[in-house]
Amino acid sequence: LVARELQAHDSIISIGGVKVGGGNFTVIAGPCSVESKEQLFGIAEMLKAQHIPLLRGGAYKPRTSPYSFQGLGEEGLALLKSAKDVYGMPVVSEIIDPIDADLMSDYVDCYQIGARNMQNFRLLEAVGKQKKPVLLKRGMSATIEELLLAAEYIINAGNPNVILCERGIRTFETATRNTLDLNAVALLKQKTHLPVFVDPSHGTGVKSLINPLSRAAAAVGADGIIVETHLNPKEALSDGHQALTADDFSQLMADIKPFISAA
Ligand code: PEP
Ligand code: MN
Repeated sequence: LVARELQAHDSIISIGGVKVGGGNFTVIAGPCSVESKEQLFGIAEMLKAQHIPLLRGGAYKPRTSPYSFQGLGEEGLALLKSAKDVYGMPVVSEIIDPIDADLMSDYVDCYQIGARNMQNFRLLEAVGKQKKPVLLKRGMSATIEELLLAAEYIINAGNPNVILCERGIRTFETATRNTLDLNAVALLKQKTHLPVFVDPSHGTGVKSLINPLSRAAAAVGADGIIVETHLNPKEALSDGHQALTADDFSQLMADIKPFISAA
């Protein structure tokens, strides 16, 4: 169902009215985790001023350590919905349990399936039964074929609105958090009609590399990027080390412009 041979033209998917894929390059940005109204609204206001159309933010966080901040849950979802209402930015948020699928559809415009859940087949089927689009991240040790088969699970269950996301894979390299696989982006664009996004924040885990790898993503044909931002990264409850400040973010938008219009 995902193959180019079955559909030559790019799928265009609407996230709350914002069209992704098909030659648009779309930036999704926001905090790793929703932490408070002040935090989320401050970031949304900064992003709105930069004309960013879509807001991300985790309410359910799949943390490596059980002692790390786990997210605000439904309270976080409600904050995302109110940020959407105030700033007019549809929202993307991660689902980690099939039981939350119906509840989340009242709050978010796009489900995110995280790297750790790419092969959680019950979760894939649960979002496959929903109507809202799904941003499906590549597992950190998943092959390109496995990513495409995970997408197949969602579409086969009834939801054709899948956006793929390369977010870095585990390699022998330890100088960066993950190794962003741009091969995968170029290859996926050939193999499938689905939109392909890049997450340079988790893909590198190094703040100073987000800007160059975002430009590389645009150059290699990605349909957009999803980037983590925070107005005060030192105080962030998750992934502060890789969060772009307002200044970093406006620099990124200036630097990526030529790559977007050239694409
Ligand atoms: C995230 O986007 O905050 C996240 C947890 O990403 P990943 O699943 O790619 O690690
Ligand atoms: Mn994160």
